[in-house]
Amino acid sequence: MKAVLKLCLSLLVMASGILIAGHSKADAAVIFSDIPAGHQAFNEITYLAQGKIVSGDISGKFNPKANVTRAEATAMIGRVLNLNGNKRKTVFKDVGSANFASGYIQSAVDKNIISGYSDRSFKPNGLVTRGEMAIMICKAFDYSFGNSSSGAAQAIKNRGIDSGVEDGTFGFNRTSDRATTAIFLARAINADLRTNHSVSFNKVKYVNTANLNVRTGPNTNYSISGKLNIQDRVATAYQAGSWTYIKSDSGITGFVLDSYLSVNPLPTTGGSADDTPNEDGTPSSPLSSQTIVIDPGHGGKDTGKIGLNKVKEKDINLDVALRLKAIALKTPFNIKLTRENDTFPELRDRVAFAKQAKANIFVSIHSNAGKGTGAETYYYSSSAYNPHVADSMALAKFIQDRLTVALDMKDRGIKNGDLHVIRENSMPAVLTELGFLDRKEDFDKLNNPDYRQKAAGAIYMGILDYYQKKGYNVDSLYSYASN
Ligand SMILES: [Zn+2]
Repeated sequence: MKAVLKLCLSLLVMASGILIAGHSKADAAVIFSDIPAGHQAFNEITYLAQGKIVSGDISGKFNPKANVTRAEATAMIGRVLNLNGNKRKTVFKDVGSANFASGYIQSAVDKNIISGYSDRSFKPNGLVTRGEMAIMICKAFDYSFGNSSSGAAQAIKNRGIDSGVEDGTFGFNRTSDRATTAIFLARAINADLRTNHSVSFNKVKYVNTANLNVRTGPNTNYSISGKLNIQDRVATAYQAGSWTYIKSDSGITGFVLDSYLSVNPLPTTGGSADDTPNEDGTPSSPLSSQTIVIDPGHGGKDTGKIGLNKVKEKDINLDVALRLKAIALKTPFNIKLTRENDTFPELRDRVAFAKQAKANIFVSIHSNAGKGTGAETYYYSSSAYNPHVADSMALAKFIQDRLTVALDMKDRGIKNGDLHVIRENSMPAVLTELGFLDRKEDFDKLNNPDYRQKAAGAIYMGILDYYQKKGYNVDSLYSYASN
């Protein structure tokens, strides 16, 4: 038994390995020796095997003409929907917990996909019919079918999943062999396999996570057909269990976990500090509603610039950011870092993070190299991208002034910079370069923890200066910079 299992497993692993890029039908490789490329159910069987929903026997055959029992059919549907297949007690008197499909059978009862017979039996070894397959699929995929056999047959026909048998009827009482069962299931999951492709993508949703994999089928055995970013808009067609079949604005189709989609877009603009003030000119929202996102540049595989003594920019940036966080935690501000460890979020993920946090200001911390000297701070000057040009400029100036004084650095000034994290953001956003890591005068400071504490305090005070100009009373908060 163990050997058999092992063989089956290695077969499956091999199959999925070969097919990793094979989401288009034509280039799929042959998996089963009795299902050659020309077989009428080749695409469907191959597709299900990719998702480990079906497998072959130990000799590598699929046996397309073999019968399918009701228990086997239920287990396949259970795997399609990612139901809990752990063997357990069921409501049926003839399905004990030792039955290989007991978990899927009970899960299918819980999901109202099967109900068994009135005498509390399920007849697990009975052969599944085409009609039973049609009804189970209608229930599993939530097709409306009026709870009738003819309604189920019509729902299946309308979708191009199956068109009936040679005598023109649906063949409701005929048994559904392995090939037929595979056709039913694969076409229910994947609209591209249907004879009628008219799936309507009719509900708009928004991706709520960064770097979302879109897959060719509804489980992680399926290969990745594309990636989506947080906030991307998709249109949804239908669900296979907890996975949703989507089409993105950029044309990617495939499956994503439904929990990664939201009905409403995430807020795209932080309520910036220039929210309409009260009539007396005081700010309309308290400091405690202000969120500051600090972005320590680089990280992980991306060292950033390499300075003297092989000091890495990513480490200097992170240390200053963590010190800044420690200061801000004593104040009413909400402070969030795009990374708190030696990790590498993509630039777009840093922007997405700030937007999702509804940041009011965004400060990216970097260090320079290239034999220059001094500190400089960037803002982005085209309101076609980030609309907060004036505020970004003001914030850059305040931080720059504080930094050059605190670190006794040459003042390279504030500059317009076409940099992703400040251009693509939707709140006042700046990027500061503390100094040059390959220049001895600058390096000696940035390599010294006391100076990094001063740098953190300087950025913090620059932020306070900015809020003070916005009308907030921040006088009492300056003392934290040096504590
Ligand atoms: Zn950098």
